[in-house]
Amino acid sequence: MTIIDGKYVSDKCKEEIKIKMRGLSKTPGLAVIRVGEDEASKIYVRLKHKMCEELGINFTEHHLPDTVSQEELIKLIQELNEDDTVDGILLQSPIPYHLNILEAFQTISPQKDVDGFSPINVGKLVQKQDSFAPCTPLGIMKMLQEYDVQIEGKHAVVIGRSNIVGRPMAELLLNANATVTICHSKTENLKEIVKTADIVVVAIGKPKFITEDMIQEGAVVVDVGINRIPDSKKIVGDVDFDNVKEKCSYITPVPGGVGPMTIMTLMSNVVKACENRER
Ligand code: NAD
Repeated sequence: MTIIDGKYVSDKCKEEIKIKMRGLSKTPGLAVIRVGEDEASKIYVRLKHKMCEELGINFTEHHLPDTVSQEELIKLIQELNEDDTVDGILLQSPIPYHLNILEAFQTISPQKDVDGFSPINVGKLVQKQDSFAPCTPLGIMKMLQEYDVQIEGKHAVVIGRSNIVGRPMAELLLNANATVTICHSKTENLKEIVKTADIVVVAIGKPKFITEDMIQEGAVVVDVGINRIPDSKKIVGDVDFDNVKEKCSYITPVPGGVGPMTIMTLMSNVVKACENRER
């Protein structure tokens, strides 16, 4: 059994990004929009800021109050679309319920949509065209490639169907010629389906939900879940790591697996956006 080291892969990607940046004629710029006071969002934005600083990417944060109107949010996105110093725009979710997040994503210029959530980029991903794919699933693909995990012809089961993780993950695996099954909260016989998987990607947000009796011997298990244990600083994934790892050929830990790659893939997408705009 091999533990897939997300920090190792992200460090390697970081070096590749630095080399690419040397070939650019300008400094790439990322603009992040954060609405309200969601505590987890503050942490995620801080981590993105720190990584931009380390790489020399210009970072600007636009913090809007949770009383902001849809019109004001859309106006800010339109201004950033027009701003030549900005290569990538990221709207940090969640945003307050009175705002229409789909309209906001749709307003982000597809050329600057480094999170890959605009309908144009989603459509391009589905049609296997070059696009910005969402960072978490794209980072997972890079990790699997780095560890030479065979995807073509394998049965990949994705558990979770969110726009951010599950759906784009399934598309990327399909584009890499896996046979893909998507499971979700209404799936019947989940255990029987997961047991037939060569590759399992779990993104449901339920601590230690996947147990060893659900996993086929030799399967590859990717755990996307981030679950905070109440009254402690401990974070666990959606997989019961200690027991499941004995049955796997490869497994990602939490923390130290998918998480570090998500941020690095965002950085990579920002540099790609800058390269595209220079052409
Ligand atoms: P979400 O809440 O939007 O979606 C959860 C999905 O899980 C839904 O599609 C639902 O149908 C499915 N689900 C829920 N209960 C289920 C069950 N019992 N059986 C089968 N399917 C079930 O969540 P999300 O945004 O996709 O995030 C999922 C998890 O991944 C969360 O823990 C989140 O914190 C984490 N996450 C991690 C990263 C990272 O970089 N590591 C990035 C994004 C999300």
